Amino acid sequence: MANKIPRVPVREQDPAIRATNFEEVCYGYNREEAMLEASRCLNCKNPRCVAACPVNIRIPDFISRLAEGDEAAAAAVIAEDSSLPSVCGRVCPQETQCEGSCILGIKGEPVAIGKLERYVGDWKIANSDNTPVEIERNGHKVAVIGSGPSGLACASDLAKMGYEVKIFEALHEVGGVLTYGIPEFRLPKKAIVAKEVEAVKRLGVEIETDVIAGRTVTIDSLLDEEGYDAVFVGSGAGLPRFMGIEGENLNGVFSANEFLTRANLMRAYREDYDTPIFVGRKAVVVGGGNVAMDAVRTAKRLGAEATIVYRRSEAELPARVEEVHHAKEEGIEFRMLTNPTQILGNEQGRVRAISCVEMTLGEPDESGRRSPVVKEGSDFEIECDVVIMALGTSPNPLIAATTEGLETNRRGCIVANECGATSREGVFAGGDAVTGAATVILAMGAGRKAAAAIDEYIKSKR
Ligand SMILES: Cc1cc2nc3c(=O)[nH]c(=O)nc-3n(C[C@H](O)[C@H](O)[C@H](O)COP(=O)(O)OP(=O)(O)OC[C@H]3O[C@@H](n4cnc5c(N)ncnc54)[C@H](O)[C@@H]3O)c2cc1C
Repeated sequence: MANKIPRVPVREQDPAIRATNFEEVCYGYNREEAMLEASRCLNCKNPRCVAACPVNIRIPDFISRLAEGDEAAAAAVIAEDSSLPSVCGRVCPQETQCEGSCILGIKGEPVAIGKLERYVGDWKIANSDNTPVEIERNGHKVAVIGSGPSGLACASDLAKMGYEVKIFEALHEVGGVLTYGIPEFRLPKKAIVAKEVEAVKRLGVEIETDVIAGRTVTIDSLLDEEGYDAVFVGSGAGLPRFMGIEGENLNGVFSANEFLTRANLMRAYREDYDTPIFVGRKAVVVGGGNVAMDAVRTAKRLGAEATIVYRRSEAELPARVEEVHHAKEEGIEFRMLTNPTQILGNEQGRVRAISCVEMTLGEPDESGRRSPVVKEGSDFEIECDVVIMALGTSPNPLIAATTEGLETNRRGCIVANECGATSREGVFAGGDAVTGAATVILAMGAGRKAAAAIDEYIKSKR
């Protein structure tokens, strides 16, 4: 019986070695391993995994093609719904989505859907002939603001429908958080992100970097003067939050965004680059999400003793289980139920310690998680040279401030309906710019829905 085969383990770099380098942690499956794992799928009649995937990839279909040894057919099935399989196979929270719904997971281990998607995506990258796809154009233009997963997904779908699509990206590199946020050891930039972006370009999507919507161009000018029929805003949520505690302006305090952007875009992960980035002897990262895990593991690889400080317990950590597991294996210290109250500096204005209190868990709050309560008289200090705040982000207000009639909510997120339509006619939005910091696959799903809505909108105007 297929489901008697145990889940095929995936090979990984040794933790002691990988904690000192930026090479990818997980090696992924080879062909033989992928075939064997694919053979575990029961090919359910009503596949719960498909419903649990925000872009509804036909998972059993691609897996059965793979089990037959037909990678090209498997890749074609995925391509109908996703332009970033190698990315999603690496970073999606599969444990709460497709794999979390796999029927095999009820009594045993779910099919390793993410690792199979990664295998197929990587196969496609290795076997692409790199020729542009010929698509007949329909004479309509759409502008996309931001080249993260929401923008790339929206642009791909529109290009496939025949629209002339141009992405305007503020940074000098393409890919959004995939390029400047998630570290190389989880998501290789040149080998994976750049290759999947190339595939989007081969659909005819044009990308212009170093263009800031709200400064270099405005949404109003794109619509009113430059002949675009619609605009999709996928500008993400790149504005970091701080705690508002004393000492946050000391030298040695970073936002995780700044720290990771510096490490990624200024190539701190490469031996041959002399990147100005300071981690000191001891670095403390405040937070418990994926961003916190990425920051703490990056600090460790750059040579610091690295610690996570999180105000709830391990059960409430929002980061992916795999990332927490990897961080622990690499020797990251976890100080749970600990909340910073002040950052302490030395005479030169540099960080010397972080002052914290111990917490206990009280009643559940509106998020359903038990709220942390301060344990009176439990103050203590953790000595450190660097403090990295990974407390979440919100959208940058620039676009809303420079676009006529674009409504935002009190968190600064653009208000959009299910299909991405905003309060401004012709302007659609999706991804983190609408939801606040979320996930790659949700951003892609929003980009795809908006593409369908933009198509309907433009057709209705003809
Ligand atoms: C460190 C880190 C780790 C993460 N790990 C995971 C993970 O493991 N799994 C997961 O699913 N998700 C993860 N996420 C979240 C995920 O990356 C985001 O939810 C996703 O990238 C959002 O996509 P987006 O397209 O909405 O925005 P982004 O990826 O943020 O892209 C927005 C793009 O818009 C550009 N832009 C912004 N303003 C302008 C402007 N005015 N003009 C032109 N361009 C502009 C930005 O430069 C950027 O390139 C992580 C996030 C971070 C920061």
